[in-house]
Amino acid sequence: MELSDLYREVILTHATHPHNYGALDHADRKSHGANPICGDAFDIEIRLDGDRISDIRFHGMGCSISKASASMMTEMAKGKTVKEFEELLDKIEKLVRGELPPNERASLGDLAALAGVASFPTRVKCAILPWKTLESAIESDE
Ligand code: ZN
Repeated sequence: MELSDLYREVILTHATHPHNYGALDHADRKSHGANPICGDAFDIEIRLDGDRISDIRFHGMGCSISKASASMMTEMAKGKTVKEFEELLDKIEKLVRGELPPNERASLGDLAALAGVASFPTRVKCAILPWKTLESAIESDE
């Protein structure tokens, strides 16, 4: 199986059966993010325990890439501190732009599948949207 086929498989699985999908009860912070070019629009809701993301859910609609990215992001972000999330976001931004060295991809697990979007600039926006939305949810203070 080609690596690109494996990546496609991971994306489709997450897009079809997204993890942590739905509304979050008693969310501390939330944000809405949209990518008008593609039609992706998601709400991300989080609960914070100090500076740790103790729970996270997302809902909305979008293409396979954005939905899979959101699903994988929620898996990775849950339990992380804000600082750890920011470090991860930095890696993901490099990954989707094709700037992350291959030896640093291993620690990303399924997220490494997003590397496939690097050759498609419009898809980079889809992949990064959920991450930027979570970032603004963290920064929001309602
Ligand atoms: Zn999209």
